Amino acid sequence: MNANNNEASAFHGEGRLKGCSSDEEPGAKAVILSQVETPVQIVSNRNADFIHRYFPLATNEQWNDWKWQLRNAITTLEDLRKIMPLTEKEIMAIKHLKGRLPLRITPYFASLIHNTKPGNPLRRIVIPVVEELIQLPVEKPDPLHEEAYSPVKGIVHRYPDRVLFTVTQVCSAYCRYCTRSHSVGKLDKLGKNDFEKAFDYIRNHTEIRDVLVSGGDPLTMSDEMLDYILKNIRNIPHVEIIRIGTRVPVVLPQRITDKLIATMRKYHPLYISLHFSHPDEITDECAQACNKLADGGFPLGSQTVLLKGINDNVEIMKKLFHKLLMIRVRPYYLYQCDLIPGSGHFRTSIRKGLEIIKGLRGYTSGYAIPQFVVDAPGGGGKIPLLPDYVVAHTKEKIVLRNYKGMICEYPEI
Ligand code: SF4
Repeated sequence: MNANNNEASAFHGEGRLKGCSSDEEPGAKAVILSQVETPVQIVSNRNADFIHRYFPLATNEQWNDWKWQLRNAITTLEDLRKIMPLTEKEIMAIKHLKGRLPLRITPYFASLIHNTKPGNPLRRIVIPVVEELIQLPVEKPDPLHEEAYSPVKGIVHRYPDRVLFTVTQVCSAYCRYCTRSHSVGKLDKLGKNDFEKAFDYIRNHTEIRDVLVSGGDPLTMSDEMLDYILKNIRNIPHVEIIRIGTRVPVVLPQRITDKLIATMRKYHPLYISLHFSHPDEITDECAQACNKLADGGFPLGSQTVLLKGINDNVEIMKKLFHKLLMIRVRPYYLYQCDLIPGSGHFRTSIRKGLEIIKGLRGYTSGYAIPQFVVDAPGGGGKIPLLPDYVVAHTKEKIVLRNYKGMICEYPEI
């Protein structure tokens, strides 16, 4: 699949595209519909209004079909303008995306942002602004040096016992702060030979016990392709766990079908690493997708990138992490934004991340507190960061400060 491939006309009945009056918030009350292939899918009131306005010929069944969502993804300025007024900064940025991370927004995610104001967190995640065109001297296309750690195409082997396997460059929607913006959305596909070489590499390295299948987003691939990939990895005796990195439940929850669950269930233990940025992403549809995954027996974790003006305060983060736990997703990493080109408007100071962790620890359950990490520029890997809880540490004792500032001692024996 090609990220720039506008497979079908995104819009029908253009005469009805003017105006956008829905005032419903993400997560609005939902109606449950029955379908043959995916027994339970939902079309929320918000979605029903959006479909009626912008895709009047689409049926609920089409809306709930993930392939329809991909075919009708919004990839051009022209299409995006039909569903929402854009600012000059957004228009100029989209006009200059050639060779950069493309624009791609699923109709589902568009339904969450079509009536938002500029600066809305979900809108900023998927719609570029001119600041994205500015590259600061500290920013590099591949800040984590993934290419240098890639022994064969698709594999990144940075840590001793695990590998990253980027099986596709395609995502159903592109996040403007994507760490792999240098490679995702490009045409560079793995062919059969590349896959076989990657499987051989894992097979020949008996120290690899953990394979993270990522991309792009692996769940944009067909069930058959996923089955092929997962089967080959699972057949390698020393691979203990497989992980899939995906944002599909957030931007394309329709993808979590019973058939997909049945396909992936064959390859347990299989963990799913999700990626959430803001509490408003957790709609009824998203919750249903995550609950289906949890019911399938997949342990669910979430990574969040710390983003200026989107989630860089304690209350937003707490709300996000609490909502994640409600849908059985454990927040496990909070990332400092990587130094990719055009990310300056998203980056906060590291101090801000520490302040957020400090504002969470003690004030909410440990399950709601992810590990704050910096993925070190130059390929140094993830380095955990903690607020300063250690006041002094001698041979005899450690002096600690708790979340309220109380000083405590513990003997060092
Ligand atoms: S889903 Fe992940 S890989 Fe895809 S654009 Fe977003 S951050 Fe990048």
